[in-house]
Formats: sequence, structure tokens, C-alpha cells
Amino acid sequence: MERESLEVDVVVVGAGPAGLSFAIQLAQNAASRNDELGILVLDKAEEIGHHQLSGAVMDPRAILEMFPLAAEEGFPIQAKVKDDALLWLSRDGKKTFSGALCPPQFRNHGNWITSVNWMVKWLAEKAEALGVEVYPGFAAAKLLRNEQGAVVGVRTVDQGRNKAGEEKANFQPGMDICARLTVLAEGTRGSLAKQLIADEKLEKDANPQIWGVGIKEIWEVEHPLEGTVLHTGGWPLEKSHYGGGWIYGLPQNQLSIGFVMGMDHGNAAFDYHAKMQEWKTHPFLQDLLRGGKLVRYGAKTVPEGGLFSMPRCWGDGFLMIGDSAGHMNAARLKGLHLALKSGMLGADAAMDALAQTAEGPARKQALARVDALFQSSWAYQELWKVRNVRQGFQKGFWSGSLAAGLATLSGGKLPGGKKPLQTDHELYQPGRKTQPKPNFDNALTFDKLTDVYHSGSVHEEDQPCHLVVLDANLCQTKCSQEFANPCQHFCPAAVYEWEDSQLKINASNCVHCKTCDIADPYQNINWVVPEGGGPVYTDM
Ligand code: SF4
Repeated sequence: MERESLEVDVVVVGAGPAGLSFAIQLAQNAASRNDELGILVLDKAEEIGHHQLSGAVMDPRAILEMFPLAAEEGFPIQAKVKDDALLWLSRDGKKTFSGALCPPQFRNHGNWITSVNWMVKWLAEKAEALGVEVYPGFAAAKLLRNEQGAVVGVRTVDQGRNKAGEEKANFQPGMDICARLTVLAEGTRGSLAKQLIADEKLEKDANPQIWGVGIKEIWEVEHPLEGTVLHTGGWPLEKSHYGGGWIYGLPQNQLSIGFVMGMDHGNAAFDYHAKMQEWKTHPFLQDLLRGGKLVRYGAKTVPEGGLFSMPRCWGDGFLMIGDSAGHMNAARLKGLHLALKSGMLGADAAMDALAQTAEGPARKQALARVDALFQSSWAYQELWKVRNVRQGFQKGFWSGSLAAGLATLSGGKLPGGKKPLQTDHELYQPGRKTQPKPNFDNALTFDKLTDVYHSGSVHEEDQPCHLVVLDANLCQTKCSQEFANPCQHFCPAAVYEWEDSQLKINASNCVHCKTCDIADPYQNINWVVPEGGGPVYTDM
């Protein structure tokens, strides 16, 4: 099959905060050396920002390093945080911890509430102004390797195949993008990153990565809370379950609300979407949302393992950055500043590596410098201080609280050593547990299909299913007997249904959260990039 190919110096997979900060910093580095580099950024979304949902609180440290005048240059600050608190919820009540009583990791004064959707558009414009090519609508489906095994680029997904994989009249083979350096910035549980981590055994010396699932909704409400940042703990999660909620006050009477839940809870019947809906039935949330209207819905997994769960992020011809490499501080519920910083550090290492190799893939010995750059950065210091906190919560609430308290009191010196973690999917307890589902009233709480409608997610129906079940027999036998098919519960978009003991996959609903790829007890689901489509988060 004839394929078009394109040669560039660097291809970046993913136009999120990490990928774009990498591209910007590398272009700036090259310009300062009077060097010219061909840098191409690909993104699977049809338009930049379509897969990035609004409403996050960002520590501005990294963006101000890159653009000291970001605020004056139009960076989309929706509000500066002027009020924050932690609310500890019981079924009908709450305790408020504010001011000096608010735990340090939940203090947000000085941070910015931003729309990630607008933020990546702003970054993409900055990158393009520096000569970076940014191509939305191009999903990278495969890594290209040379005979020596070095990564030498990516192949984009074929367009125009039918469900059976046959070529349709509009078939167009994917393009080979050949590059001296391939940078994976795919975000959480990237499909190429997953393959690369396995092939190169990049997690060999690390704890396994563990994850949380975040369910987010944007609401228009009657009572504005602009500039207020609230986090919640406690109800409705069981005490042993790591997670909590957020309420961020946006301008124009909008709220970003959401609930993030660790995936190491062990209950095969756990339904993340239903738990988030239940959280909204707390009297405090009901008051907040009464008379309001749901405008957007989204879901996303987040890597929670922290410093010790980071894979090696470099090798011959490649770097991994951002969520793909585990740059996320679960204790602060923040990753944007770390994603930006990891892109910047990666770019510094990449510049030297590319300069040392006039032809052929950038060498791993040179790219490995990114480790030293990271270890001497504030990003490493921040993650080092909480390096054993999440592990504590895997042993239960009190153990986790003790770890968090010790870390705060000792400035991160304690708990020492390297505490282990167990993989999420290994923790499922066999048996048919159930989780009561709320009655969705279509005013405060919504079923999955209504929520999917609010994500705007859509995919061409006649294309190969991008949710590849590796062994269908396993679903009907072992998984059914041991765990009663958790996929029908954990997917927040009603993609997996069981009808007459048959698995039905409604792939078009998928909101690209990657939960199934992580949470399946037998790792029997492989999420691969579809031809296009996915959620459409516009102008929010
Ligand atoms: Fe998320 Fe998988 Fe469901 Fe898609 S199919 S929404 S990636 S759990």
C-alpha cells in the first residue's frame, strides 16, 4: 500500500498542555541558537481543545516561567482564586475547614481558574507563531521503528475503513511521519505510551501506575461563585476509598463541579458516574445547583501514583511527557503546572540531543539528561514531598491521613523509603457486589446517555471498533463468573452493555476517558485511536 510520508525533526503526539509547552520551548531553544527545527504537533481531536474540558485550577508557576507576561498577553484566566475551603461531607451535613484550618494541599489563593480548552488554543497560537506546525484531526496509531529498534516517528490512523476493517470508497491510508525525535504527550493512558512502556519495560524500576477517574460537569447556576474553590471529602465514598469532589466558581454564573475516585477500591460493581450523581444529591450541592442547568459533561482518568510510579521517559528516538509520564500531584489534585514543566524540561533535553545527532534518531544517552533536569527542578521537589502519600491511602483512610500528615509536618521527609503500590485491577474482590444507583431526575442527576449527549461525543459508526476486546470468550466465562462483567458499571458513557449474555459495545458514546483500558480485571480491553470523533468541548 502506498503511503504518503513526511519528514520532520520532531513529531509531538498530543496538543495538550505538555505537548504544546514542549513545542514552544523547543522552538524557542532552537531560535536562541539560530537553529531551525521542523516541529509538528498532532492531535486526535478535530480541533484544538475539543478533547479538553474547561474548569481547572492551575498553579501558574510553570506558565509564568515560560511567559512571564502571560496574563497581559491574554492567557485565559477565568478567575483568580480569592476564596477556598475543604468541606468534609456527611450524608446530610458538612464541616468547613477554611483559613488556617484548610489543609495546605487544598489552599489555592493565588492560583488561576482556567479553561483548559481555551488554554490549549492559546498555547497552540503561541507555538504556531514560533513556526511550529499544529495539525488537529490526525491521530497517531502506531510507532515507527528502524532496524535497530529506535523510534523513528509515527503512522497516523487509516481513514475510511468499515466495521470489518475493509477499505471503503473514501479510504485514505495513514501517513508516516518520520522524525528524529518522537514525543509522546498523549495525556492520560496514551495508547502509544502504553505500548512503548510495555515494549521497552519502562516501568521496570517503578511502582505500577495507579489511577483515578474524574467525572466533570459544567453548570450554569443562579448564584455565582466566581473565584471560589471548594474541595470536598467524605460522603458519599466509603472511608477506605480515596477521592473527593471539587466546585470551582467560573465567570458568567458557571460552575465546574466534579468528583474524582481512586480506581483501587476493589469493588467490581463500582459505577463512577453513578457515584458522582449521588454526590450531587448532598443538600449543599442541591442548594448550589437548584435552578441551574447542566451544560457540559466529561470524564477522564488521572495518573495518581506519583513520583515512584513514573516510568523511564526516554529511549532511542523518544521522550514521554505530561500525564503520559505520570506528571500529576494527586495530593493537590493538580497536574497542569507539572505537565507544562515536564514539556519545558523535555524540550531542554531534546535540544541538546538533537544538536548532538545531525542525522538519525536522537540518542537515549543524550535524552536521559531529562532525568537530571527534572531532579533539579521544583516539579521534582513538589512530587518528592508527597512521594509516599498515595500509597498510604491504598491501605485505608487512617493510614493515608497519617502519611499525608507526616509529609506536611516533616516538609516531605516522612514517610521515608519507597512505599509499594498494587495495581488497581489486581485489587478487585471476586463476587457480585452491588452499588445502589440514584434515581436520575433529569434536573439534578442524569443517566449516562443524557450525560454523553452533553459531552458532544460522536464517532463515525461504520469504522473498526476502537475498543478492542482481546479475548471475547473471557468476557463470557471467567469475567462473568468472577466479577459479573465490571465494564458495564465502570464505563461512564454506557459504552459496554450486556444483553442476553452478549457484550454490546456502543463505541460511538466513548468520551475517551480510558477507564476501560485500565480498569478491566484481565486487561482485556485495548483502547486504540478511532478515525476521528470523540467529545466536542467547544468554547468552554
Ligand atoms: Fe471511557 Fe472506555 Fe467508556 Fe470510552 S469506552 S468512555 S474510554 S470507559
